[in-house]
Amino acid sequence: MQIISTIREMQKACRTLKGARTLGLVPTMGALHDGHRSLLRRARAECDVAVMSLFVNPTQFNDREDFAKYPRDAARDLQTARQEGVDIVFAPSAEAMYPAGFETTVHVATLAAILEGASRPGHFDGVATVVAKLLLASLPTRAYFGRKDYQQLQVIRRMGADLGMPAEIVACETMREPDGLAMSSRNVRLSPAERSAATVLNAALVQAAEASRSGASVVGIEQQLSGLIGAEPLAQLDYAVVVDADTLQPVVSLANGAVALVAARFGAVRLIDNGELPTPSI
Ligand code: AMP
Repeated sequence: MQIISTIREMQKACRTLKGARTLGLVPTMGALHDGHRSLLRRARAECDVAVMSLFVNPTQFNDREDFAKYPRDAARDLQTARQEGVDIVFAPSAEAMYPAGFETTVHVATLAAILEGASRPGHFDGVATVVAKLLLASLPTRAYFGRKDYQQLQVIRRMGADLGMPAEIVACETMREPDGLAMSSRNVRLSPAERSAATVLNAALVQAAEASRSGASVVGIEQQLSGLIGAEPLAQLDYAVVVDADTLQPVVSLANGAVALVAARFGAVRLIDNGELPTPSI
């Protein structure tokens, strides 16, 4: 496994290794868990060359403390990448990614302004810009992203389509703990009581899917979600909405593909989750 730390070296290595073969990129911020592993496995199974990036991107953190406390364990992450058969790990420093004078930003307008974008100003500018840089550094055939970060996935899809980026964006299912909590690098920062309370997010989403299947209205499902999460004393609800699965704009009906998105704080840790809403089974 090659470990590379500069963009130029990365471009050279990917060009050389790729040739006429397929290259799969899995962007990560490290602190790898089974969710990341599932993306790596998919890239390994579907592509000739598997590449993982490992970079805690400072520009996508609007909260300094969240950035400072983000879990980091490069040695363990490299071991995980080796176990999953990764060919190249791209692990640049912040200086290598953002040399002095860097002033270009990739800004996705409408999709990135709402929900996570409204709660975390500047977050998606940071995400879109760093993902654009990672795609330009490796020019992958496919790039793998988790549905866990649903809005991020849609923002990246839109950026790729708008800029005519050649990579196919592949969406991967959310990996969950046995009790349903979506795996996240931030989960290790939850106290035992918060960890237990955090299961309310998936529990509420499962009930939302059932309500949707039984023909409940959009407003009814949103109220149910807010009620369930709001009833958990350790949860501070940020939003619980039902939106169009592609544009993330509000919907009045579930007929054309809708998704429920939730965000809540448990102590100092902010978690997000989501679930598709099936159309009523008649
Ligand atoms: P991160 O390191 O948090 O930036 O995540 C890197 C990639 O892993 C992103 O595409 C995430 O959506 C994806 N990911 C994070 N958690 C999960 C999960 N529980 N299941 C599947 N993919 C995930």
